[in-house]
Amino acid sequence: MSKPVIVVHYHELWLKGRNRDFFLAKLSLALRRALDGLSLARIGRPGDRLLIELDDEAHLPAAIERLRCVSGISSFAVARIVERDLDALCRAAWEEVEPEKFSSFAVRAKRSDKSFPHNVTEIERIVGRHLLENLRAAGREVRVNLNHPELTCRIEIPPGPALVYARRIPGPGGLPPSTGGRMVCLLSGGFDSAVAAWKMMKRGAHMSFVHFYGGGARPGESSVHVARELVRTLTPWQFTSKLFLVPFEEIQREVVRYAPETYRLLLYRRLMLRIAEQLARRDHALAIVAGDSLGQVASQTLRNMVAVGDCVRMPVFRPLAGDDKLEILEIARRIGTHDISAEPFHDCCPVFMPRVPALHATTAELDQAEATLDVRALVRRGVEGVQTERFRYAAGRVEQVESLRTQPA
Ligand code: ATP
Ligand code: MG
Repeated sequence: MSKPVIVVHYHELWLKGRNRDFFLAKLSLALRRALDGLSLARIGRPGDRLLIELDDEAHLPAAIERLRCVSGISSFAVARIVERDLDALCRAAWEEVEPEKFSSFAVRAKRSDKSFPHNVTEIERIVGRHLLENLRAAGREVRVNLNHPELTCRIEIPPGPALVYARRIPGPGGLPPSTGGRMVCLLSGGFDSAVAAWKMMKRGAHMSFVHFYGGGARPGESSVHVARELVRTLTPWQFTSKLFLVPFEEIQREVVRYAPETYRLLLYRRLMLRIAEQLARRDHALAIVAGDSLGQVASQTLRNMVAVGDCVRMPVFRPLAGDDKLEILEIARRIGTHDISAEPFHDCCPVFMPRVPALHATTAELDQAEATLDVRALVRRGVEGVQTERFRYAAGRVEQVESLRTQPA
């Protein structure tokens, strides 16, 4: 084999009609950035796939790991590049299949370049028969199973050389980074909001993060390091991230002092949303993302979510609204945020929790409950207190780029 080649498949993207080129350019760019520092020779685009050529075989494992975090990829595989000739295809298919352990197999061919003289059925039959004969000759007990094969040997005939591979690696799906616009996520440090952010990022949104901290934390107890670790873990999916850290304790104290106890938590959330909306506007973001899941806790009943969300004009997306906790934890494990969120940290909210939280607040009730507060001043205080941290993913590592102002404890 010459240079190692990875074939990258996308679905959905081709559905986008005239936008197809835009999405493909973004996907190519994301591949380039993900493979930064590895020996990338070139990225080609034969037919409905992208082809990554590396200069150095030793970089293959790292490349495979990094591609797992590129949204927009439906699947990828290390492929053999083969001349367009049936005998050559048969030989390559055998080399590909021989080291694998399996009891049933199938050959699947795809021909996007119709100038190749054999149609898909012929290719599958001829290569399949060749493999079966060789396997039998080697004394291996295998069958052809076209419906549920354990191993599928794939042959693709795009314009240019043919591709043969048997080990397909699932990609994350979704849409390429930076295709869906900017959003700001309310990131608490718990399991949910990091997963909510990731779901939107996987759909191509570029996320900035807002974290509210404080509420009586002692040094070392702060939730800030948890939020920071979460942002670090999510950054490979979008290459750069901003984290806005907002001191919240003083603002909470005002709510505790002047507003009815039963609405406290909902009023904190409203203030968080308002501050996030201001930061989002500054950041040219068009929507806010939060990790609420319908009915998960008292503050997340439908009425409460509506009454809280009513205080901002910017749309608030809650991508976990319909997910069970177990589904959320499953994703958290998969994307690596689970163990970070599982660390104990000092959440800003429980300190001043109401004894009996309102379950079904209305917008009018919350407006009334806020009437004794100087909401604009509180929002201004939050926005003025913000500290911004920036993160960048380069050469396979996330680094903190610069900090504006000093870092909190
Ligand atoms: P999570 O697991 O994300 O903390 P949760 O189930 O604990 O969510 P709540 O604490 O009620 O839910 O918070 C609901 C949502 O409000 C969170 O998912 C998050 O988007 C936002 N939020 C809560 N606390 C904070 C915080 N300290 N900073 C930023 N956003 C927050
Ligand atoms: Mg929480």
